[in-house]
Parts: sequence; C-alpha cells; structure tokens
Amino acid sequence: MSNIFVRYGVIEGFVGPMASGKSSALLKRVDPLRWIPGKNFIGFKPKTDNREKHCRSTENFINWIHIPANEPERIFEYVNQSHDLVAIDEAQFFDKKIVEVILKLQKLMKNIVFAGLDSDFRGEPFGAMKELMFHSNELTKLHAICNKCGEPAYYTQRLIEGEPAPYTAPIVSIEGKGKKETYESRCFKHHVVPGRK
Ligand SMILES: [Zn+2]
Repeated sequence: MSNIFVRYGVIEGFVGPMASGKSSALLKRVDPLRWIPGKNFIGFKPKTDNREKHCRSTENFINWIHIPANEPERIFEYVNQSHDLVAIDEAQFFDKKIVEVILKLQKLMKNIVFAGLDSDFRGEPFGAMKELMFHSNELTKLHAICNKCGEPAYYTQRLIEGEPAPYTAPIVSIEGKGKKETYESRCFKHHVVPGRK
C-alpha cells in the first residue's frame, strides 16, 4: 500500500472470516485522516435489526451511521462534498445494491474502504462480497486462527447448539428462536458443513 492516505476514486477492501481483524484493518486505514487538515471521512454499517432505535454509534473514533441493510442507497443522504473517504464495515450484510452504491461513490471520486466477511458459514460468497472483491482496486484477504488446530483459518464455522450448522440452515441468524448459535474461525480441514455437495 502506498503512503498516500486518500486515493480518490480508489476502492479498497479488507475481507476474511470471523475474527480475522477486518474491522481493525479498516480503522487503521482510516485513522491517519484524523490528523490531516482538510481531510474528512464518514463511516457506515448495515442495520439488520429493525428493533434497533439508534442509528448512530461511536466505535473507536468513527461515528458510524447505521443504514438499513436493504437500502444501502440511503448512504447518499449522508455523503457530501466534504467527504474524501467513505468507510463501510460489515459490507456483507448489505443488499446487493451496495455494489452500485460503491461504484457511484467511485464516480464521485471518493476513496472507498470496505470490510466484510468474504464467505458465509457454508463457505460461499456472502451477499455482494464477490462483486465487491472484483471491483476492489486493492484487496487484502485476512485470516484468523483455527479454533481446532491453531492453523490459519479462512472460513467461518457456524454452530447451532454446539453442532455444525447444516448447509440448508438459513444464512440469517435463528437466535431468539430457542437455539444457541456460536461462530468460530476454522481452517479448510475443520470447516464442517453437513449436507454440502
Ligand atoms: Zn483447523
């Protein structure tokens, strides 16, 4: 990565499984802009829970704006000329319209930096991540550590009541329906998806 902190019209992505440090990498990437006079950034996350009342949250130094996951185009209600860089975290949860949104931001000569899970618990492309990874001008694939063996982990293992979730389980969490769900980072060998062809 070059030593330039804002690169207009450039799309940068950080992807990987759970606990691979994607969000930390995004924060580290945006951080220098805080110290450069005249440079401005804005950050977005998808809001997947309709019950959630607050539409802003501050984590570390970014005042995240939570946009309904199925309406990523609402990002444009907030982005203005003053913003040099647009950060998008948890990009995998956004509707596929996020691709158009990011390409439009690129046309507006924003520097876009996104982070997200590249694959779902089945090991398949998560949401629009496949397209976003294609459109990325710079892409960093991160890995975690396998909970079973300590080797590099590239996959996210979903467990329902401690057992590997079957391939046919819904992508969206079923927590709250009496089942306890957990997620672990796993290597290929230990990533188990019963019913996967
Ligand atoms: Zn392993």
